[in-house]
Amino acid sequence: MRAMLLDAPGRPLRSAAIPRPEPGAGQVLLAVRACGVCRTDLHLRDGELPDPKLPLVLGHEIVGTVAAVGPRADRFAPGQRIGVPWLAWSCGECRYCRGGRENLCDRARYTGYQIDGGYAEYAVADARFCFPMPVGYGDLEAAPLLCAGLIGYRSLVAAGDGERLGLYGFGAAAHIVAQVARHQGRRVFAFTRPGDTAAQQFARDLGAAWAGASDAPPPEPLDAAIIFAPAGALVPMALRAVSKGGTVVCAGIHMTDIPSFPYDILWGERAVRSVANLTRKDGEEFLALAPKVPVRTQVEPYPLERANEALDNLRAGRVLGAAVLTAAATPPRGSR
Ligand SMILES: [Zn+2]
Ligand SMILES: [Zn+2]
Repeated sequence: MRAMLLDAPGRPLRSAAIPRPEPGAGQVLLAVRACGVCRTDLHLRDGELPDPKLPLVLGHEIVGTVAAVGPRADRFAPGQRIGVPWLAWSCGECRYCRGGRENLCDRARYTGYQIDGGYAEYAVADARFCFPMPVGYGDLEAAPLLCAGLIGYRSLVAAGDGERLGLYGFGAAAHIVAQVARHQGRRVFAFTRPGDTAAQQFARDLGAAWAGASDAPPPEPLDAAIIFAPAGALVPMALRAVSKGGTVVCAGIHMTDIPSFPYDILWGERAVRSVANLTRKDGEEFLALAPKVPVRTQVEPYPLERANEALDNLRAGRVLGAAVLTAAATPPRGSR
């Protein structure tokens, strides 16, 4: 099968023909129809996350159809459309797993990190960690729900119930979270890279009450903020933007160092916290909620072979919404 391989961090992905994986016990084999491109893929590609499997097939927002099932994997039937998220496996035995926090399992394994992911024509996955995908979404449109949507949803819950919500970095996750937040009756304040008027307009089109540069204060204090951009310098900026009792949620897996800041911007029971990974419960809740909002994803499709271009555009902030890889057979787009 055709796959885009990461041979070593820091190098571009390489198009390769590799053997099609076989589903083992408890696993399903998926024919990949779409795979979202997440900032975490970029962190892996750039060597910002430790010890990936190598060579590695990236990609943890996989929408595919079940092509075969391994022994004891009868949860899904051949032909069924399912999704594979970031959490590929957790131990089920540790205090985190038993306490409903499998997202913190020390032995957890992640799709497109320790286990080959979806930048390929086929992928295998543990059936217990896959999700049936909601109807009403095309394959491309469904893919970003699986990480941008799930982690975004977990971050939104962590941010609390406040009405005025700041979103720092208006990419794949924020464009989904903004829609859910609006559905919940909140007001959204979107912060983008200074000068990124396209992203600011995009945020306003999705119902943001205000959109501006991340280094500018919002027009009024916020109740909570979620930082999706991997820039630690945003943490003190977001703390200054939230009112007393407000929470700043860092939603990414990697962030540059947070500069020191005066205690008085944390004082007043403000809190800074991170959100790590997802639980299967997050996935079930969000995938049930998304069609009710309804969340509409904006996707920029790329053929599998042009995964490097998708990653470069994501790094440069040139993707509006979410980049999604399509099956290798798709003809290349003419425009880029
Ligand atoms: Zn992701
Ligand atoms: Zn565990």
